[in-house]
Amino acid sequence: MKATPNSLDLIGNTPLVLLKGPSEATGCEIYGKCEFANPGASVKDRAALFIVRDAEEQGTLKPGGTIVEGTAGNTGIGLALVGNALGYKTIIVMPETQSQEKKDTLRALGAQLVLVPAAPFSNPGHFVHTSRRIAEETDNAIWANQFDNIANRRAHIETTAEEIWDQMEGRVDGFTCAAGTGGTIAGVGLGLKARDENVTIALSDPHGAALYNYYAHGELRAEGNSVAEGIGQGRITANLDGAPIDTQFRISDEEGLVWVRRLLAEEGLCLGLSSGINVAGAVELAKQLGPGHRIATILCDTGFRYLSTLYNPVWMQSKGLPPMPWQLDKAD
Ligand code: PMP
Repeated sequence: MKATPNSLDLIGNTPLVLLKGPSEATGCEIYGKCEFANPGASVKDRAALFIVRDAEEQGTLKPGGTIVEGTAGNTGIGLALVGNALGYKTIIVMPETQSQEKKDTLRALGAQLVLVPAAPFSNPGHFVHTSRRIAEETDNAIWANQFDNIANRRAHIETTAEEIWDQMEGRVDGFTCAAGTGGTIAGVGLGLKARDENVTIALSDPHGAALYNYYAHGELRAEGNSVAEGIGQGRITANLDGAPIDTQFRISDEEGLVWVRRLLAEEGLCLGLSSGINVAGAVELAKQLGPGHRIATILCDTGFRYLSTLYNPVWMQSKGLPPMPWQLDKAD
């Protein structure tokens, strides 16, 4: 690899790894796109870069300006890094329920962090609405608006999908992931379908989200709940509008945790729960397609972001979830 003159070039072009356990369990080849290898350690660096570049091109983001966003954390981390690299300030609004690591990270990166109580989307205090208001009230500021700004999914049409296609040498039978904004599933779905319309695109929806029922029965209705951060959507965002979803699965936290645990213990990959849910979804898709197929999914972020939650046995037990077995003696 040659040296690059620009730190922003480090976003994207992430490795793709064959996941041995999921592949052996299904007789398929299941590949994980290593988005934790981005500078901000998540898939959201891509959307952050495309949103900022788009605002510059539109002329809405001017030198020395401020980027304001409401986020579960990872988009904020991406925006803070991209903002630092390009000379913009960042104000990040986040629900106070997100992991301590994300809050500490955002402050460490120099973002101004605004924490708000978790609230339904219909509540004006919801983090998304709060971030829009702050952007309107701040001089020389833009609202990144990741949910309804389709520069987000364009990042995945133009980069993630193309990379997966190249890395799998044009032989892709299926792709699946969960949705937060929907930028990844819609963008990779559209990008792969443009390459080959026969690629099956599957949504892996966590409990507590409304999209499974929407794609299965035409009705936005949520059931159950999940502790996974960054995923679980209750509406059709602009990024999800027109997403080419062929099939859908509902994946529980327990099913996702099986793969978080196995990928760490057996393959040395330390991941967050949305990655585990994606891999559980890829296993379901493999069962549906049958042995011999080639499937890709997203390893969204690093598990180091969840040491106080997923990898904390006391926290896991407080949520009624099984701690990592090797941490069991620390649980009581
Ligand atoms: N996993 C994690 C950990 C995330 O932070 C996000 C983004 N909110 C996603 C998955 C989902 O990505 P997208 O917003 O593209 O749907």
